[in-house]
Amino acid sequence: NQFELVEFCNDLVAQMQMGNFPNLINFISQENYLTVWMDKNILDSILKNLLDNAVKYSPSGSMVELKLFRNNEKVVLQVKDSGIGISLPDQKRLFEPFYRGNNVDHIPGTGLGLSIVKTLVDLHSGQIAVESKVGVGTTFTVILPYTI
Ligand code: ATP
Ligand code: MG
Repeated sequence: NQFELVEFCNDLVAQMQMGNFPNLINFISQENYLTVWMDKNILDSILKNLLDNAVKYSPSGSMVELKLFRNNEKVVLQVKDSGIGISLPDQKRLFEPFYRGNNVDHIPGTGLGLSIVKTLVDLHSGQIAVESKVGVGTTFTVILPYTI
């Protein structure tokens, strides 16, 4: 379906931000307005999973960032946190079902979130990458084509 992506992200962030939410999500968009052809449910799941992780693996009160920009016919979405970070060996296995990092024993989860994200990104002919440093933070970058 066709929709306007900047407002969609604004709404999604506002929705996640409601209630007793421990972190501030800062949404930064390089576009004022971007009409996209994408599956809304897929995009919703991708962003919610990544933002959920960013918050879950960061100290409460720390800033989480969602960035949106455009690159050719593709939209780039970045979720950045200043949390516990991910070791290199863990980065290689993150997208496997049930895989959890070695530094998250005290934080609950099933290890399925990112394998679902990866499947959805693939379904949408996109790409996903991770950049991270233990104790510093993590950035996930999702690149998705937005036209048909
Ligand atoms: P679930 O999402 O199913 O509740 P989960 O968060 O453990 O559980 P994934 O979302 O698939 O599972 O993430 C896999 C692992 O990747 C996590 O267990 C964690 O070790 C690591 N991880 C993912 N996102 C982050 C992040 N933003 N910061 C630090 N570690 C992360
Ligand atoms: Mg998760």
